Amino acid sequence: MLSTMQDGSLTIGTLLRHGSGTHAASEIVTWTEEGARRSTFAEVGRDAARLAHALRGLGVTGDQRVGTFMWNNAEHMVAYCAVPAMGAVLHTLNIRLSPEQLVYIVNHAEDRVILVDGTLAPMLANQLPSMSTVEHVIVTGGDAGVLQAPPGVRVHSYEELLAAQPDVFDWPETDERAAAAMCYTSGTTGEPKGVVYSHRSIWLHSAQVCMSDGMRLSQEDHALAIVPMFHAMSWGLPYAALMVGASLVMPDRYLQPEPIARILAAERPTFAAAVPAIWQGLLQQLEANPQDISHLREVVVGGSAAPPSLMHAFEERYGVPVLHAWGMTETSPLGSVARPPAGTTGEQRWAYRYTQGRFPASVRARLVGESGAELPWDNESVGELEVRGPWIASSYYGDADPDKFHDGWLRTGDVGTISPDGFLTLTDRTKDVIKSGGEWISSVGLENHVMSHPAVVEAAVIGVPDEKWDERPLVAVVVAEGHRLTASELREFLSDKVARWQLPEHWTFLDEVPKTSVGKFDKKRLRTSYSRGELD
Ligand code: ADP
Repeated sequence: MLSTMQDGSLTIGTLLRHGSGTHAASEIVTWTEEGARRSTFAEVGRDAARLAHALRGLGVTGDQRVGTFMWNNAEHMVAYCAVPAMGAVLHTLNIRLSPEQLVYIVNHAEDRVILVDGTLAPMLANQLPSMSTVEHVIVTGGDAGVLQAPPGVRVHSYEELLAAQPDVFDWPETDERAAAAMCYTSGTTGEPKGVVYSHRSIWLHSAQVCMSDGMRLSQEDHALAIVPMFHAMSWGLPYAALMVGASLVMPDRYLQPEPIARILAAERPTFAAAVPAIWQGLLQQLEANPQDISHLREVVVGGSAAPPSLMHAFEERYGVPVLHAWGMTETSPLGSVARPPAGTTGEQRWAYRYTQGRFPASVRARLVGESGAELPWDNESVGELEVRGPWIASSYYGDADPDKFHDGWLRTGDVGTISPDGFLTLTDRTKDVIKSGGEWISSVGLENHVMSHPAVVEAAVIGVPDEKWDERPLVAVVVAEGHRLTASELREFLSDKVARWQLPEHWTFLDEVPKTSVGKFDKKRLRTSYSRGELD
């Protein structure tokens, strides 16, 4: 029997119409040298119409790809709206990829047009001659002359191009299952792979971001989107903001702790999202220059494990709860969120919050052991996490990868346990687990313990080859300014926290742990440095 219900289509066009109409007065606030500049959602809608006309004028039709090489700002939000709503595909380019990777993903996705921030144009210009499908570059910031284009590529000023266009666009009806946007993984563990989101997957994911057991985004929020719009779609915040009318504060290129603190003081956001390294930096900034940040109802930390010490510092010193969430580019990215069950208090509540959290109804999860058998949710059996659901990737774009997808499940490459009440605890990535004498040591577990030392700012753990044990942990530590620590003091500090056989004998002290393009500990680089003898 068929239902008697209508079949409204879940598209970016519907989000844009709703956001720019019902929530016309909500704002995109972009941080600049001179402070904030503000655009209402109505203005974003108008500019999206103008950009769509401009792109049609440049010949963009069907599902052609339009790349963005941009910071988080109002113009990027306009592109987020215009490109999918007109039926084309938005391709967010990670500005921190290596030049080779950048050229690779633009050519692989066959981008026709690239929008670029004026401040980033010189960076893009160097690679443009190798980007074989790009015909047009649109430069924001008023001065298209900052970009020297190779023959065959036309350069336009975003502002001039838009000024000549009508304010209204006849947005087409789009199939909700069609491609809307694409994002390549940041390649922490290999070449970038393209994930293509559909209108429907983005729509459903946006609803999850707003749910009370998700990130609780609502019209009452003034949300600081620190996580870049080129990193897993800024964790879904832009489209979720359109859905509920949350205003967004965009830091543009001002991502260092000092300007972030200034943005917090000026805009008093209610919510913010970023990887642990950003929060760690902000914490140090606040220690040196205290300021009230209690306007933040909650901050979300994900992308890599949130150290418990960081969560305690924000909550106990600044009154800001930290919500730990897990996800990947392949999962749109919201996978799980650590909200403790009702009625839990004290230590038990904290224990739940340290985990990577629970999966929403739309995401199914299972743990698979080394033999391929599914493991029980007993909080003890350790296996690889596999997930499936309507906003989980089922393949990569133009790149068969049978190792990653099987039986309709995504193999996450993450290893951990799940409790009987559904809380995921990740101990590692499969590639980062330290195999010592047939036993596994969790690099994340060790990192969290070392980072709980008050004089430690960062700690990253990798496995290094060992004749007797196969692998042993090496800890790369960053000590807070004005403090001194030795390896034996840190071993002593760990002695009542981890089993004796896990105590690392290899330590190295660095000024900073190298980071990936999205701000995670770059363990690949640490391993290379170790093999070159640079970490002794
Ligand atoms: P990349 O795979 O290139 O690093 P992603 O941003 O998609 O790019 O990274 C997803 C991975 O990040 C996950 O598979 C997981 O290993 C890690 N990750 C994300 N959130 C968390 C978290 N809360 N705790 C631990 N690891 C996390």
